[in-house]
Amino acid sequence: MTKNCRFIISFFLLFWFAFSLKASAQVRLREIRSHSELDKTRIVVEIDTLSRYSARKTSYDTLLLSIPELKSTLSQNLWTVSDGLVQNISYSKSKIIIKLDKSAGDYHVYSLRSPARIVIDISRKTAGDETEQSSSVFLKTVVLDAGHGGKDAGAVGPTGLTEKTVTLDIAKRVKEILEKQGVNVILTRDEDAFVSLQRRVAIANSSDVELFLSIHCNAAFSSRATGFESYFLSPATDDLARAVEAVENSVIAFEPNSSNKNKEFLALLADLKYTEYRKESKMFAEMIQSKLDGTFSTPNRGVKSALFYVLRGLEAPAVLVEIGFISNPSEEKLLRSYRHRQTLAENLAESIFQFKKAFDISSGFTQ
Ligand SMILES: [Zn+2]
Repeated sequence: MTKNCRFIISFFLLFWFAFSLKASAQVRLREIRSHSELDKTRIVVEIDTLSRYSARKTSYDTLLLSIPELKSTLSQNLWTVSDGLVQNISYSKSKIIIKLDKSAGDYHVYSLRSPARIVIDISRKTAGDETEQSSSVFLKTVVLDAGHGGKDAGAVGPTGLTEKTVTLDIAKRVKEILEKQGVNVILTRDEDAFVSLQRRVAIANSSDVELFLSIHCNAAFSSRATGFESYFLSPATDDLARAVEAVENSVIAFEPNSSNKNKEFLALLADLKYTEYRKESKMFAEMIQSKLDGTFSTPNRGVKSALFYVLRGLEAPAVLVEIGFISNPSEEKLLRSYRHRQTLAENLAESIFQFKKAFDISSGFTQ
């Protein structure tokens, strides 16, 4: 047997082994049911075999039960409860999402055998809940996405400063500030490399992302255009927002097998999950804008919405910030300055802490 052949066979065996492991590790969702009592709602997630799981609050009204190997073949993926504590329960990509009502308080998650099931008890809020909850932390992982990279330079300033350089430097600075405060930070890229938009979303979703911030620089035909703006995912609010959406999405042309990838992407877009975090994303965008507004003299262009590919399919609140116009000569000069980049990074980090504070409600991991 040649060395090459041996290599191919062992590679095949390894692949088969990994595949069979993966297949056997699957957990099938059998049923979801709920039972409402006066002071408690019990949700029962019945599965075919017990497996590791975790539950945590991802926002003030969302409780997420994550079972990594969970698959569903049920025809139903939304269960309406509307009992005053729980609005509804939905299934999406190995996750059970429980939308809570205002009166929902503490929760308790545990597993039971025969049949295998995970039980979530949600109790009615008591007077003591508020103070107790504010001490815990839910924001553990923040994903910072430095726009563009590698063959995709992004926008280029009049003297040649590239968007990809500025966004990477600022993302690294924000990361440093957050990490000093104990926040786990993941960068979608940490060097000058091309990373596809799907890959960015995949990196975020595989890391238990709790907040996603994509950093970009704006560009316009008019060299006078100036200021900063923040976007959350929703249909574009106006023509200018639509123009920015088109520019930031145009990176899709760089992706290999563009037409096939586009098809995959369209399938992803059909997933309307993004509406789930719209409220939190908008609030985060507002926090960034007011923070930058209080620090810089360049115009506050406000919070806008657009359908950015990089924000779609994310399982967390997500914002895309355009920190300034690299096409404007004086703003390009500012973006070149390390001092300005550091101030920008500090402001973005502070907005993240502010968001964390506003949504710090409760957390829990259960094995
Ligand atoms: Zn960009």
